[in-house]
Amino acid sequence: MIATKDDIPIVREGGRRLAHILRAVAEATVPGVSTEALNALAEKLIRDGGDIPSLIGYTPHGAKRPYPATICISFNEEVVHGIPNEHPRIVQEGDIVGLDCVVTHKGLLVDSAITVIAGKGDSEAKKLLKATEEALMAGIKAARGGAHVGDVSAAIEAVGVKRGYGIVYELGGHGVGNSVHEEPYIPNVGDAGKGEELVPGMVIAIEPMFTEGTPKVKLMPDGYTFVTKDGSRAAHFEHTILITDGPAEILTKL
Ligand code: MG
Ligand code: MG
Repeated sequence: MIATKDDIPIVREGGRRLAHILRAVAEATVPGVSTEALNALAEKLIRDGGDIPSLIGYTPHGAKRPYPATICISFNEEVVHGIPNEHPRIVQEGDIVGLDCVVTHKGLLVDSAITVIAGKGDSEAKKLLKATEEALMAGIKAARGGAHVGDVSAAIEAVGVKRGYGIVYELGGHGVGNSVHEEPYIPNVGDAGKGEELVPGMVIAIEPMFTEGTPKVKLMPDGYTFVTKDGSRAAHFEHTILITDGPAEILTKL
């Protein structure tokens, strides 16, 4: 989507709300809580604000059925799109938990994800999260008006290579705003200078996913949950940003 002058305050407010909701769900992600309760919390917070959970009932391209929940919750070797409410699980000490949610505020959608560690966690998990978030920030820094999609991809890839993680290349970022997934697709690996030009007003979601092992993922029989092929752990961070003439504006930041 290319945001108009009227759209910008709406995506800003939607982004601010989503950031607060993800923060609240992250704080509730402690050992002993169920994913069903976390999903219910996300849904309540969204609806209390008068907004709409965008993922419930959404059928992505290629999926055989609509997504059944408000939020995606993905554990450890699960990379993205874990379903929290069909076979709820209890968060355990040390779990790496990805939280990914999309909200519709006044008709416009914003998308964000964070990964947290339940309880204390181990130092390797903390390093993985830190590197993935670093890649997100590097991708955002590269997403200036006039730059190309490949500049974002290359910036993410460079961090993954430098930190020695598997860079999930089969999934990536996307345009957002009018629907959950729009053009352009924003790969997590690529060549600087290549791909579509980023123009001021574009609203896009950037979402690196790193793993401790293989970059390859496979889809589970539920049709949604992607896991690493070798069972290694993964992390995922995502922001929706507004492309401007200069540095991008992060819409889903607190
Ligand atoms: Mg997302
Ligand atoms: Mg996304």
